[in-house]
Amino acid sequence: MKTALATVTISGSLQEKLRAAAQAGFDGVEIFENDLTQFDGSARDVRLMAEDLGLEIIALQPFRDFEAMPEPWRSQNFYRAQRKFELMHELGTRRLLICSNVSPHVIDDRDRAAADLHELAELARQQDFIIGYEALAWGRHVADYDVAWDIVKRGDHPNLGIILDSFHMFARGNTLDVLRDEIPIDKIALVQVADAPRLQMEVLHYSRHFRCFPGQGDLPVVEFVQCLKDKGFDDYLSHEIFNDEFRSSSPLEKAVDGMRSLIWLEEQTSVAPEQPAQPEITDVEFIEFAVEGDSGDELVQLLQNLGFRETHKHRSKNVSLMRQGDINLVLNREPLSQAHEHYQAHGVSICALAFATTDLGAMLARTERYRSTRFANQAGPGELNIPAIRGIGDSLVYFVERPGKFRFFDIDFVPLTDVGETAVGLQRIDHIGQTVSNTDFLSASFFYKSLFGFEVEASTDLPDIYGLVVSRVAKSRDGRVRIPLNMTAAREASAQRFIHKAKGSGVQQIAFACEDIFAAAGAVGADKLLPIPQNYYRDLDARFAPEPDVLARMRSLNILYDRNDDGEFFHFYTREAHGVFFEVVQRIKDYDRYGEANAHIRMASQARQYRRDEGL
Ligand code: MG
Repeated sequence: MKTALATVTISGSLQEKLRAAAQAGFDGVEIFENDLTQFDGSARDVRLMAEDLGLEIIALQPFRDFEAMPEPWRSQNFYRAQRKFELMHELGTRRLLICSNVSPHVIDDRDRAAADLHELAELARQQDFIIGYEALAWGRHVADYDVAWDIVKRGDHPNLGIILDSFHMFARGNTLDVLRDEIPIDKIALVQVADAPRLQMEVLHYSRHFRCFPGQGDLPVVEFVQCLKDKGFDDYLSHEIFNDEFRSSSPLEKAVDGMRSLIWLEEQTSVAPEQPAQPEITDVEFIEFAVEGDSGDELVQLLQNLGFRETHKHRSKNVSLMRQGDINLVLNREPLSQAHEHYQAHGVSICALAFATTDLGAMLARTERYRSTRFANQAGPGELNIPAIRGIGDSLVYFVERPGKFRFFDIDFVPLTDVGETAVGLQRIDHIGQTVSNTDFLSASFFYKSLFGFEVEASTDLPDIYGLVVSRVAKSRDGRVRIPLNMTAAREASAQRFIHKAKGSGVQQIAFACEDIFAAAGAVGADKLLPIPQNYYRDLDARFAPEPDVLARMRSLNILYDRNDDGEFFHFYTREAHGVFFEVVQRIKDYDRYGEANAHIRMASQARQYRRDEGL
């Protein structure tokens, strides 16, 4: 399949859009006419610009309110079409996209619509152009693609075909039956693949604001492309995405997301032998913090309270390792490093996650195929050169192969002696909460879904006392790596305070798993933990009626609780250090959630703590 992008999909000037599309690797672009009308050069300049960038201009769009109009509009429309044909010659494109008529004057007559399209297609034939006809989901008389297909059939002209836009089809609840059974591929003038979350709202508003790239939403775009492929379709798949966040983001970042989604679609619809076995992410190998000098003292103190001790020092760099159970936390103070750059831009922060993978070579090949940016790390002689890609925000994602004879710290680090036993029973990383800006939210979840095959859950709303936080979890196939992603539009909500403080998207929360939450909380000391109001425990008693002594211990140690049909969940939070906070959890039986019911209690307490600390 060839790949294209309608210029309306991304932000910026026409030059910026074309450059971003080319850089992301697209073969072609649809020129959205507003982008051309705003442009201060000629159509010929656009053609040259696209040629220089190796982009084909696959269509001019949209041409509105054309078919089945009474006079004088009908004559005016043919005049308008002739002017657009002139423009198409200058642009060097052969395809004109006509979307179904929304005018109050349009006549409800399929034969008349077909006759107009036939006449236009005959004019197009004389200039070697193609007319594509698309059903807009809010078209006045033509809103479904089977009706558009009926009109194209009646129009019966070799230069007239149907344009299929998956958003319009699925927003109207259309099935793929007519496409599968009736439409020959030589009558498909263009295919636009757009996804969207499942929402109930007026369809024009839905289309203009909530479309997203395939794989980022809930529509059956994979089935749609599979159906096309089964018919032998092998032409352009084009993105035409209207999305508020996309149009306020970096054009290149969104163009790369768009390319990534087409690669993902290709993979989802490939027959098995063509598809390389997907390497798995099996665990979090380490988490790296960027600190400088004693700037991280508050963080180190908090980690010490949680029972971590420095157990290893790097052989050649100013990097130390704090361990407990199978948890590895790397503190990087090295100048001239990515960590240092991260520190300068974001302060004390988490600058990298390292994932264990079953097949390092395959994983790196996969990240390359998905247009990830590799990061060149510097390793000393005899040290591991741990490969990395750019992750969420400015952070990195490292990859380490497991099982191996050695762990990364066996090679690059020297163990310290006389460390002493201070552990409080934390065993492994349970989940990592990343807080992202609104414009990063879809990108971040699709990053995990497409590159690593993580399952991305539907979004849920968490009520912060200063606004709503939207959350969705990306989870590895075996569930060992869990990454809740949070965002908010509310200025004072905890997620936004973090974004402001950290100057961008990043890890705000790390949760550790233990097997005895009371022992862990007792060892940490209740005064180090996020205070939980007494009212919470009265409510807990009313809801779950725990044993009185268990409830009393939870209250004294600021431990929260949840229960469902699968099991039970105990958890507590630390206070924040540098905007980051830690959680300790104990999962009983098959409890697989995150205590979401308690999130509002946590956020209210954090807000109270913040206002106290800031003297507000
Ligand atoms: Mg469309």
